[in-house]
Amino acid sequence: MAEAKRAMATGMTQASVRARNLALVLGEVMDNGGNVSRADIAGRLGMTRSTVSRLVDDLILGELVDEGEAVGGARGRPAVPLRIRSGTVFALGLEVNVERMVSTLVDLTGETVAREAIELNTTELTVEEAMGHLSELALKTLEAMPDGARVAGAILAVPGLVDRDGHRIVRAPNLGWEGFEPPSFWDVSFRGEEIPLFVRNDIDCSALTVLREAPGSSFLYVTGEVGIGAAVSMDGSLLSGRHGWASELGHICVDPDGTVCGCGAAGCLETVAGLHALLDAAGQDDVESLVQALEDGDAKAHAAVQRIAEALGIAIGAALNLLDVSTVRLGGHLGRLGEWLREPLEKELVTRVLWAPHFGIKLEFIERAPLRAAMGAGLAALGRVMRDPAAWVDPHLER
Ligand SMILES: [Zn+2]
Repeated sequence: MAEAKRAMATGMTQASVRARNLALVLGEVMDNGGNVSRADIAGRLGMTRSTVSRLVDDLILGELVDEGEAVGGARGRPAVPLRIRSGTVFALGLEVNVERMVSTLVDLTGETVAREAIELNTTELTVEEAMGHLSELALKTLEAMPDGARVAGAILAVPGLVDRDGHRIVRAPNLGWEGFEPPSFWDVSFRGEEIPLFVRNDIDCSALTVLREAPGSSFLYVTGEVGIGAAVSMDGSLLSGRHGWASELGHICVDPDGTVCGCGAAGCLETVAGLHALLDAAGQDDVESLVQALEDGDAKAHAAVQRIAEALGIAIGAALNLLDVSTVRLGGHLGRLGEWLREPLEKELVTRVLWAPHFGIKLEFIERAPLRAAMGAGLAALGRVMRDPAAWVDPHLER
Protein backbone atom coordinates (compact mmCIF):
# COMPACT_ATOMS: atom_id res chain seq x y z
CA MET A 1 0.00 0.00 0.00
CA ALA A 2 2.88 2.32 -0.80
CA GLU A 3 0.53 4.54 -2.81
CA ALA A 4 -1.83 5.01 0.13
CA LYS A 5 1.07 5.82 2.45
CA ARG A 6 2.44 8.35 -0.01
CA ALA A 7 -0.98 9.93 -0.27
CA MET A 8 -1.33 10.24 3.50
CA ALA A 9 2.15 11.75 3.75
CA THR A 10 1.11 14.51 1.33
CA GLY A 11 -2.14 15.11 3.19
CA MET A 12 -4.45 13.91 0.40
CA THR A 13 -7.54 11.88 1.19
CA GLN A 14 -8.08 8.55 -0.52
CA ALA A 15 -11.03 10.01 -2.44
CA SER A 16 -8.96 12.89 -3.77
CA VAL A 17 -6.14 10.51 -4.76
CA ARG A 18 -8.62 8.35 -6.66
CA ALA A 19 -10.14 11.42 -8.35
CA ARG A 20 -6.70 12.64 -9.39
CA ASN A 21 -5.67 9.19 -10.64
CA LEU A 22 -8.90 8.79 -12.63
CA ALA A 23 -8.08 12.09 -14.37
CA LEU A 24 -4.50 10.94 -15.08
CA VAL A 25 -5.66 7.63 -16.55
CA LEU A 26 -8.39 9.29 -18.63
CA GLY A 27 -5.79 11.80 -19.89
CA GLU A 28 -3.56 8.90 -21.05
CA VAL A 29 -6.47 7.31 -22.91
CA MET A 30 -7.33 10.67 -24.48
CA ASP A 31 -3.76 11.38 -25.63
CA ASN A 32 -3.13 7.86 -26.99
CA GLY A 33 -6.66 6.81 -27.89
CA GLY A 34 -7.01 3.34 -29.44
CA ASN A 35 -3.34 2.62 -28.93
CA VAL A 36 -2.86 2.22 -25.22
CA SER A 37 -3.50 -0.69 -22.81
CA ARG A 38 -3.81 -0.91 -19.03
CA ALA A 39 -0.19 -2.12 -18.84
CA ASP A 40 1.03 0.83 -20.98
CA ILE A 41 -0.72 3.29 -18.69
CA ALA A 42 0.67 1.62 -15.56
CA GLY A 43 4.16 1.94 -17.04
CA ARG A 44 3.75 5.55 -18.03
CA LEU A 45 2.20 6.73 -14.78
CA GLY A 46 4.36 4.58 -12.50
CA MET A 47 1.29 2.91 -10.92
CA THR A 48 0.68 -0.79 -10.28
CA ARG A 49 -1.27 -2.70 -12.93
CA SER A 50 -3.99 -3.60 -10.43
CA THR A 51 -4.52 0.08 -9.47
CA VAL A 52 -4.74 1.11 -13.13
CA SER A 53 -7.07 -1.79 -13.89
CA ARG A 54 -9.50 -0.73 -11.13
CA LEU A 55 -9.47 2.88 -12.35
CA VAL A 56 -10.02 1.78 -15.96
CA ASP A 57 -12.93 -0.45 -14.90
CA ASP A 58 -14.55 2.56 -13.18
CA LEU A 59 -14.05 4.70 -16.29
CA ILE A 60 -15.66 1.95 -18.40
CA LEU A 61 -18.64 1.61 -16.03
CA GLY A 62 -18.92 5.41 -16.01
CA GLU A 63 -19.22 5.29 -19.83
CA LEU A 64 -16.20 7.50 -20.47
CA VAL A 65 -13.88 4.77 -21.79
CA ASP A 66 -14.36 1.82 -24.10
CA GLU A 67 -12.33 -1.29 -24.94
CA GLY A 68 -11.27 -2.20 -28.47
CA GLU A 69 -10.41 -5.60 -29.98
CA ALA A 70 -7.58 -7.45 -28.20
CA VAL A 71 -4.34 -7.55 -30.18
CA GLY A 72 -1.20 -9.70 -30.04
CA GLY A 73 -0.92 -12.34 -27.35
CA ALA A 74 1.70 -14.73 -28.77
CA ARG A 75 3.30 -14.51 -25.35
CA GLY A 76 1.28 -13.58 -22.29
CA ARG A 77 -2.18 -12.07 -22.32
CA PRO A 78 -3.28 -10.10 -25.37
CA ALA A 79 -3.34 -6.31 -24.90
CA VAL A 80 -6.78 -4.70 -24.98
CA PRO A 81 -6.56 -1.19 -26.42
CA LEU A 82 -8.53 1.52 -24.63
CA ARG A 83 -10.23 4.47 -26.23
CA ILE A 84 -12.53 7.32 -25.30
CA ARG A 85 -16.16 6.21 -25.54
CA SER A 86 -18.28 8.05 -28.07
CA GLY A 87 -21.96 8.89 -27.81
CA THR A 88 -22.24 9.32 -24.02
CA VAL A 89 -20.94 12.78 -23.06
CA PHE A 90 -21.16 15.89 -25.22
CA ALA A 91 -20.41 19.60 -24.97
CA LEU A 92 -21.65 22.68 -26.79
CA GLY A 93 -19.12 24.93 -28.50
CA LEU A 94 -20.56 28.32 -29.42
CA GLU A 95 -19.15 31.29 -31.26
CA VAL A 96 -20.28 34.86 -31.76
CA ASN A 97 -18.24 36.83 -34.22
CA VAL A 98 -18.84 40.02 -36.18
CA GLU A 99 -20.44 38.28 -39.14
CA ARG A 100 -21.57 34.90 -37.82
CA MET A 101 -22.91 32.79 -34.99
CA VAL A 102 -22.10 29.12 -34.65
CA SER A 103 -23.13 26.23 -32.45
CA THR A 104 -21.34 22.88 -32.52
CA LEU A 105 -21.96 19.68 -30.59
CA VAL A 106 -18.71 17.94 -29.71
CA ASP A 107 -18.40 14.34 -28.52
CA LEU A 108 -15.96 13.33 -25.73
CA THR A 109 -13.79 11.78 -28.48
CA GLY A 110 -13.36 15.34 -29.79
CA GLU A 111 -15.41 14.74 -32.94
CA THR A 112 -17.86 17.43 -33.97
CA VAL A 113 -21.16 15.59 -34.44
CA ALA A 114 -23.43 18.53 -35.33
CA ARG A 115 -23.01 22.14 -36.33
CA GLU A 116 -25.32 25.03 -37.10
CA ALA A 117 -24.17 28.44 -38.31
CA ILE A 118 -25.91 31.64 -39.35
CA GLU A 119 -24.39 34.58 -41.14
CA LEU A 120 -25.62 37.89 -39.75
CA ASN A 121 -24.29 41.25 -38.64
CA THR A 122 -24.06 40.68 -34.90
CA THR A 123 -22.97 44.27 -34.22
CA GLU A 124 -26.59 45.32 -34.85
CA LEU A 125 -27.92 43.00 -32.12
CA THR A 126 -28.28 43.62 -28.39
CA VAL A 127 -26.59 41.08 -26.16
CA GLU A 128 -30.04 39.64 -25.28
CA GLU A 129 -30.98 39.25 -28.95
CA ALA A 130 -27.65 37.56 -29.64
CA MET A 131 -28.17 35.11 -26.76
CA GLY A 132 -31.67 34.37 -28.10
CA HIS A 133 -30.27 33.45 -31.53
CA LEU A 134 -27.60 31.32 -29.88
CA SER A 135 -30.23 29.41 -27.86
CA GLU A 136 -32.06 28.50 -31.07
CA LEU A 137 -28.86 27.31 -32.72
CA ALA A 138 -27.83 25.37 -29.61
CA LEU A 139 -31.19 23.60 -29.40
CA LYS A 140 -30.90 22.49 -33.03
CA THR A 141 -27.44 21.00 -32.47
CA LEU A 142 -28.51 19.32 -29.19
CA GLU A 143 -31.12 17.36 -31.15
CA ALA A 144 -28.24 15.21 -32.46
CA MET A 145 -27.63 13.82 -28.95
CA PRO A 146 -28.75 10.25 -28.31
CA ASP A 147 -31.18 9.56 -25.43
CA GLY A 148 -29.46 9.16 -22.09
CA ALA A 149 -26.34 11.08 -23.15
CA ARG A 150 -25.11 13.88 -20.88
CA VAL A 151 -24.11 17.51 -21.57
CA ALA A 152 -20.82 18.51 -19.91
CA GLY A 153 -21.38 22.22 -20.49
CA ALA A 154 -21.16 25.03 -23.03
CA ILE A 155 -18.46 27.55 -23.85
CA LEU A 156 -19.06 30.69 -25.87
CA ALA A 157 -16.04 31.87 -27.88
CA VAL A 158 -15.85 35.65 -28.34
CA PRO A 159 -13.33 37.94 -30.03
CA GLY A 160 -12.13 39.82 -26.98
CA LEU A 161 -10.78 39.79 -23.45
CA VAL A 162 -12.50 37.41 -21.09
CA ASP A 163 -12.09 37.08 -17.31
CA ARG A 164 -9.99 34.12 -16.26
CA ASP A 165 -12.89 32.36 -14.51
CA GLY A 166 -14.91 32.50 -17.75
CA HIS A 167 -17.89 34.37 -16.33
CA ARG A 168 -17.39 37.84 -17.80
CA ILE A 169 -16.54 39.40 -21.16
CA VAL A 170 -14.32 42.33 -20.21
CA ARG A 171 -14.05 43.89 -23.66
CA ALA A 172 -15.01 42.64 -27.11
CA PRO A 173 -14.58 45.88 -29.09
CA ASN A 174 -15.62 44.50 -32.49
CA LEU A 175 -18.92 43.24 -31.04
CA GLY A 176 -19.42 46.33 -28.89
CA TRP A 177 -19.81 44.09 -25.80
CA GLU A 178 -18.27 45.40 -22.61
CA GLY A 179 -18.59 44.00 -19.10
CA PHE A 180 -21.22 41.42 -20.17
CA GLU A 181 -21.79 38.54 -17.76
CA PRO A 182 -23.78 35.72 -19.37
CA PRO A 183 -25.85 33.50 -17.03
CA SER A 184 -23.68 30.84 -15.31
CA PHE A 185 -26.38 28.28 -16.03
CA TRP A 186 -28.09 28.56 -19.33
CA ASP A 187 -31.71 27.56 -19.70
CA VAL A 188 -31.99 26.43 -23.30
CA SER A 189 -35.04 24.32 -22.39
CA PHE A 190 -33.28 21.13 -23.36
CA ARG A 191 -34.74 18.05 -21.63
CA GLY A 192 -35.37 20.30 -18.64
CA GLU A 193 -31.63 20.66 -18.04
CA GLU A 194 -29.76 23.88 -17.34
CA ILE A 195 -26.37 23.86 -19.00
CA PRO A 196 -23.31 25.44 -17.32
CA LEU A 197 -22.12 28.28 -19.58
CA PHE A 198 -18.69 29.93 -19.70
CA VAL A 199 -17.04 32.41 -22.05
CA ARG A 200 -13.57 32.18 -23.55
CA ASN A 201 -11.38 34.04 -26.01
CA ASP A 202 -11.97 32.78 -29.57
CA ILE A 203 -8.31 32.44 -30.55
CA ASP A 204 -7.61 30.34 -27.45
CA CYS A 205 -10.48 28.10 -28.56
CA SER A 206 -9.13 27.82 -32.13
CA ALA A 207 -5.69 26.98 -30.72
CA LEU A 208 -7.23 24.01 -28.89
CA THR A 209 -8.21 22.47 -32.24
CA VAL A 210 -4.63 22.95 -33.45
CA LEU A 211 -3.38 21.36 -30.22
CA ARG A 212 -5.69 18.39 -30.75
CA GLU A 213 -3.83 17.67 -33.99
CA ALA A 214 -0.46 17.81 -32.16
CA PRO A 215 -1.06 16.89 -28.50
CA GLY A 216 1.51 18.02 -25.97
CA SER A 217 3.36 20.24 -28.45
CA SER A 218 4.77 23.75 -28.01
CA PHE A 219 3.99 26.41 -30.59
CA LEU A 220 2.96 29.97 -31.28
CA TYR A 221 -0.35 30.09 -33.15
CA VAL A 222 -1.02 33.25 -35.16
CA THR A 223 -4.25 33.73 -37.05
CA GLY A 224 -5.16 36.52 -39.42
CA GLU A 225 -8.69 37.93 -39.50
CA VAL A 226 -9.66 41.61 -39.41
CA GLY A 227 -7.35 41.63 -36.39
CA ILE A 228 -4.40 39.37 -35.67
CA GLY A 229 -4.97 36.81 -32.91
CA ALA A 230 -2.42 34.60 -31.21
CA ALA A 231 -2.07 31.86 -28.62
CA VAL A 232 0.91 30.09 -27.11
CA SER A 233 1.03 26.38 -26.29
CA MET A 234 3.82 25.25 -23.97
CA ASP A 235 4.04 21.43 -23.76
CA GLY A 236 0.34 21.20 -24.57
CA SER A 237 -0.92 23.87 -22.14
CA LEU A 238 -2.11 27.24 -23.40
CA LEU A 239 -0.41 30.18 -21.71
CA SER A 240 -3.12 32.44 -20.39
CA GLY A 241 -1.16 34.99 -18.36
CA ARG A 242 -1.95 36.53 -14.98
CA HIS A 243 -5.52 37.55 -15.93
CA GLY A 244 -6.09 35.34 -18.97
CA TRP A 245 -5.21 38.14 -21.39
CA ALA A 246 -1.86 36.90 -22.73
CA SER A 247 -0.86 36.57 -26.40
CA GLU A 248 -2.16 39.87 -27.80
CA LEU A 249 0.42 39.68 -30.57
CA GLY A 250 -1.76 41.89 -32.82
CA HIS A 251 -1.07 44.88 -30.58
CA ILE A 252 2.71 44.66 -30.59
CA CYS A 253 4.13 47.79 -32.24
CA VAL A 254 5.81 47.14 -35.59
CA ASP A 255 5.92 50.80 -36.75
CA PRO A 256 5.90 53.66 -34.20
CA ASP A 257 4.98 56.12 -37.00
CA GLY A 258 2.26 53.87 -38.39
CA THR A 259 -1.53 54.04 -38.63
CA VAL A 260 -3.54 54.36 -35.40
CA CYS A 261 -5.01 50.99 -34.39
CA GLY A 262 -8.51 50.28 -33.02
CA CYS A 263 -6.90 50.03 -29.57
CA GLY A 264 -5.70 53.66 -29.77
CA ALA A 265 -1.98 52.99 -30.19
CA ALA A 266 0.02 53.63 -33.38
CA GLY A 267 1.50 50.99 -35.68
CA CYS A 268 0.23 47.76 -34.08
CA LEU A 269 0.88 44.56 -36.08
CA GLU A 270 -2.79 44.35 -37.08
CA THR A 271 -2.70 47.81 -38.71
CA VAL A 272 -0.29 46.23 -41.23
CA ALA A 273 -1.08 42.49 -41.36
CA GLY A 274 -4.83 42.55 -40.54
CA LEU A 275 -7.02 41.52 -43.47
CA HIS A 276 -8.36 44.97 -44.41
CA ALA A 277 -4.94 46.61 -44.16
CA LEU A 278 -3.40 43.88 -46.33
CA LEU A 279 -6.14 44.03 -48.99
CA ASP A 280 -5.93 47.86 -49.11
CA ALA A 281 -2.16 47.71 -49.59
CA ALA A 282 -2.49 45.04 -52.28
CA GLY A 283 -5.38 46.81 -54.04
CA GLN A 284 -7.59 43.70 -53.83
CA ASP A 285 -11.16 43.03 -52.64
CA ASP A 286 -10.78 39.66 -50.93
CA VAL A 287 -8.31 36.88 -50.16
CA GLU A 288 -9.22 34.89 -53.29
CA SER A 289 -8.51 37.84 -55.60
CA LEU A 290 -5.28 38.51 -53.69
CA VAL A 291 -4.18 34.89 -54.24
CA GLN A 292 -5.01 35.21 -57.94
CA ALA A 293 -2.99 38.46 -58.18
CA LEU A 294 -0.02 36.77 -56.48
CA GLU A 295 -0.23 33.86 -58.90
CA ASP A 296 -0.30 36.35 -61.80
CA GLY A 297 2.86 38.05 -60.50
CA ASP A 298 1.13 41.34 -59.63
CA ALA A 299 3.85 43.66 -58.23
CA LYS A 300 1.56 45.51 -55.81
CA ALA A 301 0.26 42.27 -54.30
CA HIS A 302 3.80 40.92 -53.87
CA ALA A 303 4.95 44.17 -52.23
CA ALA A 304 2.01 43.96 -49.80
CA VAL A 305 2.95 40.40 -48.80
CA GLN A 306 6.60 41.45 -48.39
CA ARG A 307 5.46 44.26 -46.08
CA ILE A 308 3.40 41.93 -43.86
CA ALA A 309 6.30 39.46 -43.74
CA GLU A 310 8.50 42.24 -42.32
CA ALA A 311 5.87 43.26 -39.78
CA LEU A 312 5.16 39.65 -38.76
CA GLY A 313 8.92 39.10 -38.51
CA ILE A 314 9.25 41.93 -35.95
CA ALA A 315 6.31 40.80 -33.79
CA ILE A 316 6.76 37.01 -34.07
CA GLY A 317 10.54 37.39 -33.70
CA ALA A 318 10.03 39.29 -30.42
CA ALA A 319 7.64 36.61 -29.19
CA LEU A 320 10.02 33.74 -30.05
CA ASN A 321 12.98 35.45 -28.37
CA LEU A 322 10.82 35.87 -25.27
CA LEU A 323 9.20 32.44 -25.24
CA ASP A 324 11.79 30.02 -26.68
CA VAL A 325 9.22 28.25 -28.86
CA SER A 326 10.43 27.07 -32.29
CA THR A 327 7.21 26.14 -34.12
CA VAL A 328 4.89 28.81 -35.53
CA ARG A 329 1.51 27.79 -36.92
CA LEU A 330 -0.27 30.39 -39.03
CA GLY A 331 -3.98 30.34 -39.83
CA GLY A 332 -6.73 32.55 -41.28
CA HIS A 333 -5.61 34.62 -44.29
CA LEU A 334 -1.97 34.20 -43.14
CA GLY A 335 -2.38 30.42 -43.53
CA ARG A 336 -3.76 30.91 -47.04
CA LEU A 337 -0.68 32.93 -48.08
CA GLY A 338 1.94 30.34 -47.09
CA GLU A 339 3.26 29.89 -50.61
CA TRP A 340 4.35 33.54 -50.77
CA LEU A 341 4.83 34.36 -47.09
CA ARG A 342 7.07 31.45 -46.05
CA GLU A 343 10.36 32.58 -47.56
CA PRO A 344 10.38 36.28 -46.57
CA LEU A 345 9.03 35.50 -43.09
CA GLU A 346 11.65 32.77 -42.52
CA LYS A 347 14.35 35.22 -43.58
CA GLU A 348 13.12 37.83 -41.07
CA LEU A 349 12.91 35.31 -38.23
CA VAL A 350 16.35 33.80 -38.83
CA THR A 351 17.79 37.33 -38.62
CA ARG A 352 15.83 38.34 -35.53
CA VAL A 353 15.63 35.26 -33.33
CA LEU A 354 18.92 34.72 -31.50
CA TRP A 355 19.01 30.93 -31.65
CA ALA A 356 17.33 30.50 -35.07
CA PRO A 357 20.53 30.16 -37.19
CA HIS A 358 21.57 27.16 -35.05
CA PHE A 359 18.28 25.54 -34.24
CA GLY A 360 15.90 26.61 -37.00
CA ILE A 361 12.26 27.69 -36.93
CA LYS A 362 9.41 25.57 -38.21
CA LEU A 363 6.65 27.47 -40.02
CA GLU A 364 3.37 25.65 -40.67
CA PHE A 365 0.57 27.17 -42.69
CA ILE A 366 -2.96 25.99 -41.93
CA GLU A 367 -4.92 26.60 -45.11
CA ARG A 368 -8.48 25.89 -44.12
CA ALA A 369 -9.88 26.41 -40.69
CA PRO A 370 -13.68 26.70 -40.83
CA LEU A 371 -15.50 27.08 -37.51
CA ARG A 372 -12.40 26.30 -35.47
CA ALA A 373 -13.34 28.67 -32.65
CA ALA A 374 -16.69 26.95 -32.01
CA MET A 375 -15.18 23.46 -32.26
CA GLY A 376 -12.39 24.47 -29.87
CA ALA A 377 -14.96 25.94 -27.47
CA GLY A 378 -16.63 22.51 -27.43
CA LEU A 379 -13.29 20.82 -26.69
CA ALA A 380 -12.70 23.33 -23.87
CA ALA A 381 -16.14 22.58 -22.40
CA LEU A 382 -15.26 18.86 -22.35
CA GLY A 383 -12.34 19.87 -20.14
CA ARG A 384 -14.73 19.73 -17.16
CA VAL A 385 -15.01 15.96 -17.64
CA MET A 386 -11.29 15.49 -18.28
CA ARG A 387 -10.31 17.44 -15.15
CA ASP A 388 -12.75 15.67 -12.83
CA PRO A 389 -13.97 12.37 -14.32
CA ALA A 390 -14.96 11.15 -10.83
CA ALA A 391 -17.90 13.59 -10.92
CA TRP A 392 -19.15 11.83 -14.09
CA VAL A 393 -18.20 8.27 -13.19
CA ASP A 394 -19.48 8.07 -9.61
CA PRO A 395 -23.19 8.71 -10.28
CA HIS A 396 -23.06 5.64 -12.58
CA LEU A 397 -21.27 3.46 -10.01
CA GLU A 398 -23.91 4.33 -7.42
CA ARG A 399 -26.80 3.23 -9.60
ZN1 LIG B 1 -3.54 47.94 -31.30
